[in-house]
Amino acid sequence: MVCFCFLVDQKRKMKASKPAAGMCSRCGLCFCLTAPVKTSTRFCLIPIYCRSWRAIVCSFCGSVLKSYR
Ligand SMILES: [Zn+2]
Repeated sequence: MVCFCFLVDQKRKMKASKPAAGMCSRCGLCFCLTAPVKTSTRFCLIPIYCRSWRAIVCSFCGSVLKSYR
């Protein structure tokens, strides 16, 4: 099953978006954004799984503070 892992890659795309109120729990700065995130998993370069969701992320350190499904 080890070689199977090398064929799968997962990408997470995040679009720039609106600022959100809140403070980052990791770095303590107020750089929070509400961003639509798209996660796509590919197997042998063929997309097999794709999911879009919204999250509040810190634009400074990149940590996800809250996610909506
Ligand atoms: Zn942060």
